[in-house]
Amino acid sequence: MKTVLLVDDSRAVRLAGKRIFESLGFGTLEAGDGQQALDVVASHPTIDAVLLDWNMPVMNGLDFLKTLRSQAVAQPVVVMCTTENDIAHITEALTAGANEYVMKPFTEDIIREKLQETGVL
Ligand SMILES: [Mg+2]
Repeated sequence: MKTVLLVDDSRAVRLAGKRIFESLGFGTLEAGDGQQALDVVASHPTIDAVLLDWNMPVMNGLDFLKTLRSQAVAQPVVVMCTTENDIAHITEALTAGANEYVMKPFTEDIIREKLQETGVL
């Protein structure tokens, strides 16, 4: 089974993501901020994908992404997920190593499409 790590400080958003990814056949892990997410990645080296919020306390999504991409670990596909939809934010996320970018609120159709584009599905 493929595994996704859902990273968002909103429990409701993590739950919405969990429902979608489970219906797509994924096992799910969760983290409430970027630091927790780094800890989860360190203890679960076979994560296939990360659905990543941008704005979070402690460590935001962009800083998590930059740290993850600098580490010598198996690199999951990262889909950045945020309300910041201007081109500057999208470019910054892609430059930092995001594979795809989705707007909130996301739907199952959009998530499936992004996963197919990145080859995870
Ligand atoms: Mg947030």
